[in-house]
Amino acid sequence: MRLILLGPPGAGKGTQARRLVAKYGIVELSTGEALRAAVQAGTAIGRQAQEIIAGGNLVPDEMVVGIVEQRIAQPDARKGFVLDGFPRTVPQAVELDRMLQAKGLALDSVIELRVDEVALLKRIEGRIAEMKARGEPLREDDSPQVLHNRLKTYREQTAPLIDYYRQRGVLRTVNGMASIADVAAEIDGALEVPARAGSP
Ligand code: AMP
Repeated sequence: MRLILLGPPGAGKGTQARRLVAKYGIVELSTGEALRAAVQAGTAIGRQAQEIIAGGNLVPDEMVVGIVEQRIAQPDARKGFVLDGFPRTVPQAVELDRMLQAKGLALDSVIELRVDEVALLKRIEGRIAEMKARGEPLREDDSPQVLHNRLKTYREQTAPLIDYYRQRGVLRTVNGMASIADVAAEIDGALEVPARAGSP
C-alpha cells in the first residue's frame, strides 16, 4: 500500500498516518520530522533548513526529494509507505512519480484531508494556547504568525497537487473536520474502493 496524505498543517495527517502504519504494516515518512531531526543533529541539511522551517516556508525540492528517495529504498518500505508532508510542490510530485516508475511501482491513493481554513486556524491556535498553558514544548513554527504563512504556503504551492492527483485518478477526499475516529473510518472506506477505478 503506497499512500500520500495531503492537507494543510494541523489537518491531522500525522495522526492518521500513524494509524495507517499500524493497520497496514507500512512505514511512515514525514519529511517535516526528518528535517527537524536533521536540524537537531546539526547536519548540513539541518543547518540549511532551520531558518526556512522557522519562517514557515518550504525547503528546496531537491533537499526533500533526496530524503524520500533514500527512505523508500529501505527494505522495510517494501510493503509500502504513507507519506505525510511530501510532496508539497508539483515538481516534488513529478520526482516522486519518476522514483516510483523506476522501481515499477505506483501510488495506490492520495488522501486529501479537506478542512475549513478558518475553523482550522482556530483549532490550532487553541491547541497552541493549551500547550503553552501546560508548559509543553512547542515547535518553533507553531506560533500563530508562522502558522498563517504555513497555510498561505500550502494554498499557493501544495493545493495544486489536488488537481494533479485528481487528473491521475488516485485522489480520495475525506472530511478532515470530523473527529479522528470518523476521519479514520472515512479513509478506510475510501481505501476499500480502488482509487484508479472509482475516483470522481
Ligand atoms: P511539517 O512537519 O510537515 O508541517 O513540516 C514542517 C516544515 O518542514 C515545513 O513548514 C517546511 O518548512 C518543511 N518541509 C516539510 N516537508 C517539506 C517538503 N515536502 N517540501 C518542502 N519543505 C518541507
